[in-house]
Amino acid sequence: MKTERIGSRGLLFSFEDPYLTNVYIIFGKEHVFVLDTFLGNDSMKAVHQLIDSEGYEDKQLVIFNSHADYDHYWGNGAFKDATIVGHEHCKERIVDEGEASLAKYADHQRGEIELIPPNRTFKETLSFEAEGVKFFHSPGHTLDSSSCIDERDGVLFVGDNVESPIPYLNHVNFDQYIRSLESYLELDWKYIIAGHDPLLEKSDLIKQNIDYLRKFRDWSLNIDSFSVTKLHRHVEHNLKTIKDELMRSNHKHALMKHLEELEKYIA
Ligand SMILES: [Zn+2]
Repeated sequence: MKTERIGSRGLLFSFEDPYLTNVYIIFGKEHVFVLDTFLGNDSMKAVHQLIDSEGYEDKQLVIFNSHADYDHYWGNGAFKDATIVGHEHCKERIVDEGEASLAKYADHQRGEIELIPPNRTFKETLSFEAEGVKFFHSPGHTLDSSSCIDERDGVLFVGDNVESPIPYLNHVNFDQYIRSLESYLELDWKYIIAGHDPLLEKSDLIKQNIDYLRKFRDWSLNIDSFSVTKLHRHVEHNLKTIKDELMRSNHKHALMKHLEELEKYIA
């Protein structure tokens, strides 16, 4: 696990086991904001210790879950008395899918896990104006995906909406996803923190992600140019996950043609 100071009041925790995952802390005037909680109470011990050692143990804790995939909220139980902020669909997903995620990803558990959903939900935005911290709905990677901007330091936390080399898709929501990514380009930021990538200071990856989504939507992907990792994620995660939804949509014929084309790459 690595830590890095960002701007005037931020601290980035980058966990490396079982895979790179970022948790970000904003030390506000009256609040300490913890963005995502990773894989269980053990993984959040270092976060607690750091808040104490910085002298912030008496401030109000505000936890944020960027979305309800297990690796972003399993550590909520380490912050029992805190305000836990999340989109209303994030709360629903944790209630509906939490138990199944525990069974499915048991070997990723780091310490005790209590499945605690957000206790302060929002639909569009939720602002802590005096602190210059704003949470907003940004559906894409999942329908509940939300982001946070620290307006003072220009730090944008985007959960798993931005990912290299291409994002993980879970729905046929290309246009909605593209709109969320384009909204990031309109914001004033110096740093972007994505769930599973190193700290970003440029918009290249956002633009590459938009390009993939547009070309996928229009069935104009150039598979020849794909790296092994990109092809694997496109075929083994994205196509498999959204195949049924595509088959029920007007993408059906284009999908069937695409799958035929892909056979030469997979064989
Ligand atoms: Zn994730």
